[in-house]
Amino acid sequence: MNSEGTLRHFNLRKTKIRIAVLDALAQSVGALSYAVLQERLIEFDRTTLYRTLLTLSDHGLIHKAYEENGESYYARCFGCSDQAHNHEHLHLKCSSCGGVECIEISEQLKRNLAQLPFQEINISAKGSCSTCEPV
Ligand SMILES: [Zn+2]
Ligand SMILES: [Zn+2]
Ligand SMILES: [Zn+2]
Repeated sequence: MNSEGTLRHFNLRKTKIRIAVLDALAQSVGALSYAVLQERLIEFDRTTLYRTLLTLSDHGLIHKAYEENGESYYARCFGCSDQAHNHEHLHLKCSSCGGVECIEISEQLKRNLAQLPFQEINISAKGSCSTCEPV
């Protein structure tokens, strides 16, 4: 589904910036930091970008993948809604390129996590991403 279709699917108004943010994240292999998003979407003002990220994450279109030193990284969601963000996956922060990748975890680990009374789970790791060090 393209970005416009995604917004329609979520009953969100199609605004230029929403489409631009979704496009940027869809084209990226990993998550994008707020600074990078800001750089790529230079034609929009900061407040609008900030509010757009909040709206899109409230509605389950994107999620905050990682946070470090006050810098947030965002990635697309698939199968989330405004009711629930479901990404029991790992966020790998690459120590070479600084990128953040979303990595699926095993069903077994998901089941184990499901038994714990977490409100929010954010599993993160540091190492090299698949681009810097192909497996
Ligand atoms: Zn999500
Ligand atoms: Zn890397
Ligand atoms: Zn993720």
